[in-house]
Amino acid sequence: MPLFGRSLVPTTSYGYQAPPDVIVIGWHCPGVECGRAEDIPPRRWPTWCDSCGTAVDPRFADPWAHYARRLELDFIITSQGTDSATRQMMMVESDVWYYKDALLRRDLASAYAARRGLRSTTARIVQADPYFVPRTGYFLVVWHAIESGDLDGAADELLAWHPTVVTHDVDRNNATRTTARQFTDSCVQFLEDTNGSRHPAGRQVYAAMLNVAGQIRGVLTSRNQQAIARVVGSRQYG
Ligand SMILES: [Zn+2]
Repeated sequence: MPLFGRSLVPTTSYGYQAPPDVIVIGWHCPGVECGRAEDIPPRRWPTWCDSCGTAVDPRFADPWAHYARRLELDFIITSQGTDSATRQMMMVESDVWYYKDALLRRDLASAYAARRGLRSTTARIVQADPYFVPRTGYFLVVWHAIESGDLDGAADELLAWHPTVVTHDVDRNNATRTTARQFTDSCVQFLEDTNGSRHPAGRQVYAAMLNVAGQIRGVLTSRNQQAIARVVGSRQYG
């Protein structure tokens, strides 16, 4: 028992009220330009940030973290004070959330719809902001897809991602360099997955990986190079 008895976890700044049996794993400060986070749960509520004095939000274990994130994303997207770069990022994350949520419920039709939703969101953002590099959405969806065994989804996303990967300025541009590296890493993750390696799109993903790797040879990290060499060395696709 906590020293001061059980205190109900407060409603978060973005409107999530956790049930009494929630597991709290730390706190996060929602203060503007603060964002401090700690991994130790406070001993009592409310608790104030020792950097800026704002009342802090609890951080939860799953599945509560997943439910809370939905409300937090909606809150950030609809808040007037949210800058456009953050709103773009949160809109992408929002669609990724719907995808992950559908996978958790093993609802493949909704998972597919969420991936289509993310494509539309990305197209809208790119139309409004030509400098936007679509990376995080593809990367996260591929990651969740492989984790939960939606290999059709992972292959589809990788092959849709491939033509958007820009490689001509990777020496000077951190965003395109990171994207291209993440793309080859994601292909490796797919190709080294037991089910990915047997997937009918395996050869296409392999070709896409080699295509991008060949164009960014000079900026591949040694970890990138080793991962690609492992896949090539397996002689499963060549
Ligand atoms: Zn703070």
